[in-house]
Amino acid sequence: MNHGNFVISLDFELMWGVRDLVTIEQYGKNIAGVHSVIPKLLDAFGTYNVEATFATVGFLFFETKAGLLPEVPALLPTYSDTNLSPYNGHFNEIKDNHTDDPYHYAPLLIRAIQKHPRHEISTHTFSHYYCLEPGQTKEQFREDLIAAKKIAAAFNIPITSIIFPRNQYNVEYTDVCTSLGITSYRGNERHWVYDSTKEISNVFLKFLISLGGSKKAKLKLMLRRLFRKMDAYINISGNNCYSLSDLKNSFPVDIPSSRLLRPYSPALALFEPLRLRRIINGMTYAAKNNLTFHLWWHPHNFGIHQDKNFAFLEKILKHYQYLNKTYNFQSITMTNLANSILTEHKNG
Ligand SMILES: [Zn+2]
Repeated sequence: MNHGNFVISLDFELMWGVRDLVTIEQYGKNIAGVHSVIPKLLDAFGTYNVEATFATVGFLFFETKAGLLPEVPALLPTYSDTNLSPYNGHFNEIKDNHTDDPYHYAPLLIRAIQKHPRHEISTHTFSHYYCLEPGQTKEQFREDLIAAKKIAAAFNIPITSIIFPRNQYNVEYTDVCTSLGITSYRGNERHWVYDSTKEISNVFLKFLISLGGSKKAKLKLMLRRLFRKMDAYINISGNNCYSLSDLKNSFPVDIPSSRLLRPYSPALALFEPLRLRRIINGMTYAAKNNLTFHLWWHPHNFGIHQDKNFAFLEKILKHYQYLNKTYNFQSITMTNLANSILTEHKNG
């Protein structure tokens, strides 16, 4: 392939993705906002000829609680941290019908995405399943993924890619994915700031951690979080772009994230130009060097400050349009990119 690729993926989950961290009282405005965010995203993507992959939590497909409950798998995740499972009480909080509960159902939004066949509907698992959490098992994950595929099939949607909740990719579960027809997933950036399997590479930080004693693990996590946030504004981890030959040796194909599109933050408004430049520079680098740039976020990140967030996105999409004209930079879904890699691999 003698051009670069632009991949956009969205983790579409409503309350199911955050229910263990925040309440509807705290975060409901962002979640309810998704019902206007998705139509606006579809408009913006249409205007700039961009394709996106919407990784959707299986629960969102249902119209009613009565329809959902019988589809719950027989094997449920037995996380050691019981709060992580939505089956431990959260169903008491959901209403009977999608028209009364904008936080837990989204069948109409899924139908709206389906009207644009250029976009891909992918899975974010049935229940927002955590593949690396202690206590759960591979068989439980398999049942979850089967349920996700089944409800998507009822919408005539074949599932061929997955975005793992909290980006918890478990190498032991690869065969479950391949046996269920998954050909790609979104991996983490390879840099140590994002990849917790890699050691922190900075000497000063290592020294800092060595002083931390028993709190080492917590300190490492805090530093990674801080650096990830800073990385949205200044170049810490590089552009995180990759060539297709970098990707062709894994199956399912790992299409790693290049950058999380963070939401507009009033406290950091002064630094918006830096945040934009960081993304634009990565895209330009990919376009000029025939590499792939993968941008992702959650629709609920745009749920509030919608005007600011969409104005920011429009600048990104305009830049894509420029790169498309100038360098033949191409927007593509995860599955289409995986297919092109797999065909090329087979032929060459
Ligand atoms: Zn998620």
